[in-house]
Amino acid sequence: MNTTHPTTALAKSSLWAKGWYQFAKRLDSPHFSARPPDAKIDLVVVHSISLPPGVYSGDAVTHFLTGQAQTIEHPYLESIKDLKVSAHFFIRRQGELIQMVSCDDMAWHAGVSHYRGRDRCNDDSIGIELEGLEGDTFEAEQYETLSGLCSSLLQHYPIEHLAGHEHIAPARKKDPGAGFSWEDFRKSLGLTQNFFPISDK
Ligand SMILES: [Zn+2]
Repeated sequence: MNTTHPTTALAKSSLWAKGWYQFAKRLDSPHFSARPPDAKIDLVVVHSISLPPGVYSGDAVTHFLTGQAQTIEHPYLESIKDLKVSAHFFIRRQGELIQMVSCDDMAWHAGVSHYRGRDRCNDDSIGIELEGLEGDTFEAEQYETLSGLCSSLLQHYPIEHLAGHEHIAPARKKDPGAGFSWEDFRKSLGLTQNFFPISDK
């Protein structure tokens, strides 16, 4: 097989432009900063979010993560309105993929965190938010989009670890929670267990 076919090479390189994934809808967030110059982007962090919690419609999540004012009134939205957070990606219930921060920059999704022997996981990770709620399950379309995205990330960045927010900040966070199947996710990527959290770690 000719693995250096020019069409294949072109297709691979054109999937990413300056950290932006061409299959994602782009909604720029001002909530990002430069990564440390020596950052080795080797970690994917999976999260879940819905706003208000448990509501899987509307634009409250993208408004929140891109620093825009909310268009609906809700006490919970009011309580978080001054938080400045973001993620690189958001995957909606129907599988729609939205990118808010270039993967070459740092998104603000992890907070105080520690994993694979290193602190400040924002420095060198890619954050993916699944529309959902801790404890709830996720849709097949979300796994499909997540798997396709992570396959491409594994080709483009030196990813060696995929973990949940609950694994990198266990004292504070519980997302994506028990309703997320790490085993289905792992199998869809054809990866060994070594890439994933060990339950007694
Ligand atoms: Zn999270």
